[in-house]
Amino acid sequence: MARVFNFSPGPAVLPEAVLSRAKEELLDWHGRGISVMEMSHRGKEFTSIAQQAEADLRSLMAIPDNYKVLFMQGGASMHFSMAPLNLLGDKNSADYIHTGHWSKKAITEAKRFCNVSVAASTEGKGYTSIPEYSEWQLNKDAAYVHYTPNETIAGVEFHSIPDTAGVPLVADMSSTILSRPIDVSRYGVIYAGAQKNIGPAGLTVVIIRDDLLGVAKDTTPSMMNYQTYADSQSMYNTPPTFAWYMAGLVFQWIQGNGGLTAMAEINQRKSDKLYRFIDHSGGFYVNKVDKNCRSWMNIPFQLHDDALDKEFLQLATEAGLVQLKGHRSVGGMRASIYNAMPEPGIDALIDFMQQFKTKKG
Ligand SMILES: *Cc1c(COP(=O)(O)O)cnc(C)c1O
Repeated sequence: MARVFNFSPGPAVLPEAVLSRAKEELLDWHGRGISVMEMSHRGKEFTSIAQQAEADLRSLMAIPDNYKVLFMQGGASMHFSMAPLNLLGDKNSADYIHTGHWSKKAITEAKRFCNVSVAASTEGKGYTSIPEYSEWQLNKDAAYVHYTPNETIAGVEFHSIPDTAGVPLVADMSSTILSRPIDVSRYGVIYAGAQKNIGPAGLTVVIIRDDLLGVAKDTTPSMMNYQTYADSQSMYNTPPTFAWYMAGLVFQWIQGNGGLTAMAEINQRKSDKLYRFIDHSGGFYVNKVDKNCRSWMNIPFQLHDDALDKEFLQLATEAGLVQLKGHRSVGGMRASIYNAMPEPGIDALIDFMQQFKTKKG
């Protein structure tokens, strides 16, 4: 059986080396005679797995000591509610930067808890750009500023960190975390669903600055309070143990491949190659995103004639290039090329696109 190149936006491709290691350890982890899936989350075996994963993530991302790392369930979507519940304190407004599908969902949930001020939006421009920093209407009394560094559907990515003049910056980093080094100290909270660039679905990673803990509203359920997780090493209740273990293997894989600096180099090269091919296809393929904010991770593209979409997808699948269908709101195709997408996958996609164009152009 041959593995195909999987361009799924999420749950997404995992490094083959990680899957193989998990397979080797599946029935008998380190000679204990049981699977990680069968371990008590409070036993010393799983505790060592959990602590190692946290230590490896801290080292990969150079997370400062005044930040907690939380391993949770509920997906990134749960933080659309948890951010306002936990971070408003005695304030009643928050600023949101609206750049696509995911920021819209975050805004919808936050509106249940506070006055949401949309400080900048690209909705009118069809989410093909990021708003000029100089035009952001930030409110100095906002409890926090929320943004989406990479909009997975539109393929729009911030290539610098916005300056919020001391107001805590909250980021939904689901589809770009670990794709490059970032300065964690610029953030108040980072959250990310695991199923794009960290591991299997079921785990959500949160990185939160200590001073932002402990001000949740009294009515906040324990399971929705970041403090609960911070106080219990994320073991207030049963965590997603197997997903946590898999994430740890992915962290080690990244470390073994040169860390985030190496990931960034490879990701930039992979995405540059594909954008260059699209831009030089004479309009047969088009990516509408502004060049200064094109995503390294999710590359939507349209065919010049959408009547060809079905055949493109069918032939691509036959060629071992799967899950390329674009989101219905954008149409066309989308290639999600996270860390675990090997460079030969990009080359194979470009070869296929060239052949398809030759046949149909
Ligand atoms: C996938 C995704 C989500 C949703 O994640 P869940 O874990 O399914 O809740 C939220 N935000 C972004 C940017 C995403 O890419």
